[in-house]
Amino acid sequence: MKYITHSVKETKELAKELVKSLKAGQVIGLSGDLGAGKTAFTQGLAKALGVKSIVNSPTFVLMKVYEARHKVIKTLVHIDAYRLDEGSNLEALGIEEYMADPQTLVVVEWVEKIKKIMPKGVKYYNFKVLSEDQREIVVK
Ligand code: ADP
Ligand code: MG
Repeated sequence: MKYITHSVKETKELAKELVKSLKAGQVIGLSGDLGAGKTAFTQGLAKALGVKSIVNSPTFVLMKVYEARHKVIKTLVHIDAYRLDEGSNLEALGIEEYMADPQTLVVVEWVEKIKKIMPKGVKYYNFKVLSEDQREIVVK
């Protein structure tokens, strides 16, 4: 499926649509260039899940965990693998436990960097900058 959004708001609305059809234990993998809208999309997800804290790019901490208020999802885990080195010890972070938890939604920016530990059934979103305000979002 391919979408074109024309504003941050539209990108966030696309995330909201995703939440409507969310399956328990779903893991979301985001890829695409810097500034393509991966964090904006995650902010839309967070809002739709009832996360009250401000969600921004966790680039410097790798992973942030938020409390969600949604009928199925109680925790949102936001990972930004951008600065991750090959062979980093991800086990220590408990990412795999979060991914296996049906009440947790894990969203990974720069998912290509940790593809090796991604479980089956990940929903992949690829973001592309078309123009200043237009983004192409391809869902696999
Ligand atoms: P990424 O996390 O992929 O690096 P961000 O979500 O942090 O990207 O940044 C996206 C930037 O692009 C923001 O500055 C946002 O305002 C801008 N932008 C413009 N149009 C769109 C759009 N259609 N969807 C998402 N972001 C957009
Ligand atoms: Mg980002």
